[in-house]
Amino acid sequence: MQRIFSGIQPTGIPQLGNYLGAIRNWVALQADHECIFCLVDLHAITVWQEPEVLRQQTLAQTAVLLAAGIDPKAHILFNQSAVSAHARMGWIFNCVSRLGWLNRMTQFKDKAGKDRENHSAGLYVYPNLMAADILTYKATRVPVGDDQRQHLELANDIAQKFNHDYGVEFFPAIEALIPPAAARIMSLRDGTKKMSKSDPSAQSRIEMTDDADTIALKIRRAKTDPEPLPTEPAGLLDRPEARNLVDIYAALAGITAGEVLARHGGEGFGPFKAALTEVLVQTVVPIADETRRLLEAPDHLRAVLRDGAGRAAEIAEPIVSEAERLVGFLK
Ligand code: ATP
Ligand code: MG
Repeated sequence: MQRIFSGIQPTGIPQLGNYLGAIRNWVALQADHECIFCLVDLHAITVWQEPEVLRQQTLAQTAVLLAAGIDPKAHILFNQSAVSAHARMGWIFNCVSRLGWLNRMTQFKDKAGKDRENHSAGLYVYPNLMAADILTYKATRVPVGDDQRQHLELANDIAQKFNHDYGVEFFPAIEALIPPAAARIMSLRDGTKKMSKSDPSAQSRIEMTDDADTIALKIRRAKTDPEPLPTEPAGLLDRPEARNLVDIYAALAGITAGEVLARHGGEGFGPFKAALTEVLVQTVVPIADETRRLLEAPDHLRAVLRDGAGRAAEIAEPIVSEAERLVGFLK
């Protein structure tokens, strides 16, 4: 059975893109993989987090993942900082990875923007730590959204360079599992920007804890253009906002964009947004309700993470120890 590793940053409440691009696939992959899912708090602090908010969000995300169908008994769910192997492997990879490789990473450019000099060194070496997250478990498959494709290519480069430098076949090749549809859900306010849980505007995203009224309001306010929906997907090409709403509908209803347009093409956004709200409510509200229920028992959530961290460390510890020995650390 192949081993899966994937993570999510506790930088906010999981948004619809996280769900459609990653979490929904994590749930499905549990059927035939050994899965390790991680709340990557070491990654979260690469940008400023209020300490108490970070703790609260870590628990809230745990609740959302359980509500969405992650099974923490059959698989592993934990927070990254609880297993020291990540930081140890991350340091080794900081020394394997090349500045030239990191300079090409578009996520750093997007997140740092023009104010590059004022960002943390952690944000810059983020992809090295992400490689460490995966390879500390020798995981071979990583389900992520399209925005992480480049980081996974870098992780493979790091694994290969490590193997080459130390003359071993130690780390396996990693395969990115990027869903064929809904791999990049866009902001509700700007169809050229990806939906993100850390975007300052809550109106830009559907959060997996939103209630029906909030969802309806956000979709009503979602940016669109004045034209009615086209009847063919080709008509969406230069209409990013329209295309995003059609893609979201398609992903939630389990149909293609063409099928959505066969039903709704020619309609104005008023009726289409009402139909979209309905499918969104059907998916999001049950998860939101179950999340609220789980958050009433934070001790249970802490126990789930503690148990997961113990089992994660059992897998990670021998692998990171062997990597340290290969590098030449005296044991
Ligand atoms: P942040 O803004 O803090 O980076 P985020 O919303 O980008 O938050 P991450 O924790 O960075 O979320 O990513 C978690 C997972 O969700 C990753 O697999 C990522 O590829 C996926 N993902 C994030 N945003 C989207 C999106 N808009 N569409 C599809 N998948 C996404
Ligand atoms: Mg992100």
